[in-house]
Amino acid sequence: MIDSFEEPVADNPVLTVNDLHVNFSSFDGLHQVVDGVNLSVGNSEVVAIAGETGCGKSVTVKSILGLLQEPPAQISGTIKFDGKDLRQLSEKKVRQMKGTQISMVYQDPMSSLNPVFTIGEQLTDTAQFGSTETVRKIDYIKKKYFERQSRQQAREKVINMLREVQMPDPERIMKNYPSQLSGGMCQRAMIAQALLNEPDLLIADELGTALDVTIHDEILGLLQDLAIQRNLSILMITHNLGAARQISDRVYIMYGGQIVETGSTENIFNHPAHPYTQGLMSSVPKLSGDEMAEGIDGSVPEYLNPPSGCRFHPRCPYAHDKCRTEQPDAYATGSNEANNCFLYDNEHQSPYDEPTVEKTKNMNESIKSSERRKK
Ligand code: SF4
Repeated sequence: MIDSFEEPVADNPVLTVNDLHVNFSSFDGLHQVVDGVNLSVGNSEVVAIAGETGCGKSVTVKSILGLLQEPPAQISGTIKFDGKDLRQLSEKKVRQMKGTQISMVYQDPMSSLNPVFTIGEQLTDTAQFGSTETVRKIDYIKKKYFERQSRQQAREKVINMLREVQMPDPERIMKNYPSQLSGGMCQRAMIAQALLNEPDLLIADELGTALDVTIHDEILGLLQDLAIQRNLSILMITHNLGAARQISDRVYIMYGGQIVETGSTENIFNHPAHPYTQGLMSSVPKLSGDEMAEGIDGSVPEYLNPPSGCRFHPRCPYAHDKCRTEQPDAYATGSNEANNCFLYDNEHQSPYDEPTVEKTKNMNESIKSSERRKK
């Protein structure tokens, strides 16, 4: 029997997000970009949020970090980090936490580092002050230029950190400007900067996607090693399913501003249950055989007037009447796995009313054969 239930929560969570809604008001009306997201990241756990571009991943993490301006953003829900509700803390307190307890690595390393300061200067500032935004100018000047010993200690910390991220010749790199480094080196410098103050949680936004595949692979491997060595919790957002599979322990699949499926990485990739997850898997290009990637017809929904009922229904091959008018809850599809689709509820009387791994495979096959027939 399959029951509606609360979404799984990580053991010893460092981050929990409950019922997060993010709307943006514009002259056209209200854009409902994030709609009731629940997620959690456990201690030393690597969690991925995966989905197409435009499905609300970046807005979700920006709202976690308080990077969205209110208004025009309208945010509701609770975001708890280390037991504290970030939305109830002062702006100054949240800024102090950023860069020290929570760090973020952005997708484009070249434009995320400051082009007019050397790598050494930028990273030493981070090591000495944490977040420079919260330091008074007078204290910044005093400590930076007159407290030589503490500056020197910060420099040594940076050099050690650059070694840890396998940066070649760290002393020389300290004197370089970002424009003098390759994309991969800039990405390593950014990871080093993010880890300098030993955060509990690292948020990685499409890490390495601006790099070529071999460097991207190296960066993901590095992140995985650092997570293990430092007991680091990581929340990564990605449209690259390979990256999510490579380093995450658990995956949230996001579509149209909502989490539609969650589970262990192994289960999500070996037995995708939600029709959207299945569609994502079928979109991955195959390197062998003559089978083409199938993809999902249509595009992500408009957030101004999102589709009624299940937001995926205009693109879903299994959509039925109920899907067009009602929103599905989260239904258990295994231990600690959840799936927001009516195919998995108790009352559904379609041929798919008791989904199993076998049935999921059959669903995949039926999509494939109907596509072949169309051709
Ligand atoms: Fe498709 Fe309906 Fe499931 Fe949504 S609820 S994914 S439309 S079958």
